[in-house]
Amino acid sequence: MIIVVKNTSDEGQVANLIDWVKDLGLDVHLSRGEHSTVIGLIGDTSKVDIDLISSLDVVEKVQRVGEPFKNANRKFHPEDTVIDVGGAKIGGDYFTVIAGPCSVESEKQIIEVANAVKASGATLLRGGAFKPRTSPYAFQGLRDEGIKYLLKAKEETGLPIVTELMSAFHIDLFKDVDVIQIGARNMQNFELLKEVGKTGKPVLLKRGLANTLQELLMSAEYIMSEGDSEVILCERGIRTFEPMTRNTLDLSAVPVLKGVTHLPIVIDPSHATGISKLVEPMSLASVGAGADGLMIEVHNDPMHALCDGAQSLNPEQFDLVMKKVKTMLPIVGKSII
Ligand code: PEP
Ligand code: MN
Repeated sequence: MIIVVKNTSDEGQVANLIDWVKDLGLDVHLSRGEHSTVIGLIGDTSKVDIDLISSLDVVEKVQRVGEPFKNANRKFHPEDTVIDVGGAKIGGDYFTVIAGPCSVESEKQIIEVANAVKASGATLLRGGAFKPRTSPYAFQGLRDEGIKYLLKAKEETGLPIVTELMSAFHIDLFKDVDVIQIGARNMQNFELLKEVGKTGKPVLLKRGLANTLQELLMSAEYIMSEGDSEVILCERGIRTFEPMTRNTLDLSAVPVLKGVTHLPIVIDPSHATGISKLVEPMSLASVGAGADGLMIEVHNDPMHALCDGAQSLNPEQFDLVMKKVKTMLPIVGKSII
């Protein structure tokens, strides 16, 4: 981080600023030019409040030259992280498909969908037990019963399960869940992130509706700072001015994130578009962009789904998408395990 000091500042003010920086436990490198004085901060600046420094009278501007995330940073961990979830590998040269209904509706439904998506090549089963719904009157999920049915489906098919945790209050119910999903609305629920980080379980962290990629990485950092190294980032579309899709899929997130983090990145084309017909083209585009996987909503009867039917594929449509995805994988050097 570098601080450019206002050229109206006197020696005493600069010295005070340097003392203040040193009190933060940092070293400084002072460079006095003809027109400006620049202070380079040396050490771990991740805890430095950049806005506070900017607000000081003597400061012209402040610039970060390094990123404020360490654990998630590729600079300190150049190799791709590969996460093994019950034999399903996520990251590196692997491609993972997580599929299942928006919400678990019954034991029969989730087992039926689990069998279908497995037959098509999905490697993990998703299903919401606790649902974050905009309306308090909409179906909120089967809650603990939903988790029980997911575990039944796992027993039946062997597919590891992914399901969303909305409150630390429910964390004990998730002890047999393979991957804890943190939904878009909770991406910056920092207390919840710290709690999931303590479980040490793989976490699927979805990008918030209006969050930057840096904010997503900082949320991953919250989880990792608790000692949990298994975070999977998920781009699920962001809110823009475009009303013809539910959200706008930011596919450039894939190569951008790949450049700065070693964590795997999966795309959720279902929530990103909100329209089942768009799931296939966006899935194929995700493969092309270098994503490590997809998370797709699949329902046995989308017309009667209790949640997100319009964006859900039926098992036949999902099978078709999988066939096309599989033909593309050799081009990007990835394979499904
Ligand atoms: C979901 O995956 O079920 C979900 C609610 O997604 P998001 O948090 O991305 O809206
Ligand atoms: Mn959904």
